[in-house]
Amino acid sequence: MAAIDGLPPLRDVIATHGIAARKALGQNFLLDLNLTAKIARAAGDLSGSDVFEVGPGPGGLTRGLLAEGARRVLAVEKDPRCLPALAEIAVAYPGRLEVLNADALEVDPRDHLTTPIRIVANLPYNVGTELLTRWLTPPTWPPVWDSLTLMFQKEVAERIVAKPGSKAYGRLAILAQWLTDARIVMTLPPEAFTPAPKVHSAVVHLTALPQPRYPADAKVLNRIVAAGFNQRRKMLRASLKGVALEIEAKLLSLGIAPTARAEEISLEDYCRLARLIAAT
Ligand code: SAM
Repeated sequence: MAAIDGLPPLRDVIATHGIAARKALGQNFLLDLNLTAKIARAAGDLSGSDVFEVGPGPGGLTRGLLAEGARRVLAVEKDPRCLPALAEIAVAYPGRLEVLNADALEVDPRDHLTTPIRIVANLPYNVGTELLTRWLTPPTWPPVWDSLTLMFQKEVAERIVAKPGSKAYGRLAILAQWLTDARIVMTLPPEAFTPAPKVHSAVVHLTALPQPRYPADAKVLNRIVAAGFNQRRKMLRASLKGVALEIEAKLLSLGIAPTARAEEISLEDYCRLARLIAAT
């Protein structure tokens, strides 16, 4: 059956251009255009936004983004074998798709796109957390992007949205929830991909807050959270010893039990502690 964009089905695209999936590049492709359109819709109204897509591969999600009305898409793909397939999509959507054969870690979307910018990607799992951490730690906040809609392995997605008291709660949850509204909008079984990975996957949608949820100095907050979670079995009075003088008294003054462990402390309390430490 012909797709709505008049381009061939993705299985044919892969066969024509010889894009057999390579594990080293994290290649697990989405071949169902209904599914890629659904992911594109999860990114919100794209009609007034430019989109930065990491790792378009044979272009399933790229086609979804364009069909759902993205103003422009910058697609950065490391694997040169995908370029001819992506060039065909650019022809079907004149002036709306720019493809770069590059490592996404080296590309600054601001050099190619105009705001508002949304980032949407079925990420290669090996660089997903690194890219997310980079996008969440720009030199100034708010960042250049309005939202991130990203596929992760489900366990990483759960770490992003985790709440205190859960095993998944840690540095990633605190960073993401300090700066964004983050929620899991879709979960996908391994069979949704070709080839099927070993793990389940989930799409997380993160909307940048205009300013961090609670005031705190990013470096101080990061230092506390790193120290706490690097020794997550220890009580805070021990794990945070090296972070500030008289840590036990400081915790008590904020009503935080010095015997609590890092995973029991709310984001708000981490920010209160960061403010107290920065002020003394
Ligand atoms: N978006 C496609 C889809 O949904 O079918 C492909 C997703 S696949 C999980 C990840 C893609 O990212 C692959 O095409 C891979 O070649 C590409 N990739 C891997 N590392 C990359 C990097 N550092 N920069 C840009 N692309 C990368």
